[in-house]
Amino acid sequence: MKKFTQTLKEFLMANGASDVGFSRVSYQDLEYAVTIVVKLSDYVISQIEGAPTYTYFNHYKTANALIDRLGLLCGQRIEERGGLYMPIPASQTVNGHNTYAGEYSHKKAAVYAGLGTIGKNALFLHNTYGPAVRLGTVFTNLPLETGEPLTESLCDGCGLCVKSCPAQALYGKSFSWENPDASLLDRKACSDYMKQHFMHIGRGSVCGICINKCVKHFQEKQAE
Ligand code: SF4
Ligand code: SF4
Repeated sequence: MKKFTQTLKEFLMANGASDVGFSRVSYQDLEYAVTIVVKLSDYVISQIEGAPTYTYFNHYKTANALIDRLGLLCGQRIEERGGLYMPIPASQTVNGHNTYAGEYSHKKAAVYAGLGTIGKNALFLHNTYGPAVRLGTVFTNLPLETGEPLTESLCDGCGLCVKSCPAQALYGKSFSWENPDASLLDRKACSDYMKQHFMHIGRGSVCGICINKCVKHFQEKQAE
């Protein structure tokens, strides 16, 4: 399966993925996951100052559309190989017990694949691109060569994201493997703030202030 895993990665990257990883996390009887990473524009994110921009909202949607397309293409390759697949939409909340969550946590699959870690901003921090990414996940029953979670956090705890959040929605806690499901974010406070303040920009579904602060910090650290 090593060869197929590598071929799948090369195929997805040739079609627009910025990075691809593989993990052993399950969705029902599908025991392997493919994580698709699409990098966002540094320039677009740099323009988010106190509020999302119209361009950021469009860019966010475009990246999600690419991820969903790549998820379908990935699934087609898996089916051709005799496997089953289940693509998790890039951005879709599922009504039910928790109205702010999707069908599965993209971040969890990405962390188990060893592509990055989770920051105090509750965002996935990619090992090269920091938080300037969107994620997708495709589950399959086809065995894949999987990665290993990173041992050190990519978040240095600077707290800039926590201080910058206008909704005070970030608790300031760090992700820990002892309690990986502990919440770092008051999702309701974040969502309510976006709906109250940014309905005219991103239909109340994007903000990006905490991404902006973290991307700047991440880039400064990389430049040191
Ligand atoms: S801004 Fe600082 S504390 Fe917040 S996630 Fe990024 S590195 Fe971590
Ligand atoms: S998206 Fe905005 S409101 Fe939500 S946690 Fe980040 S800065 Fe706060």
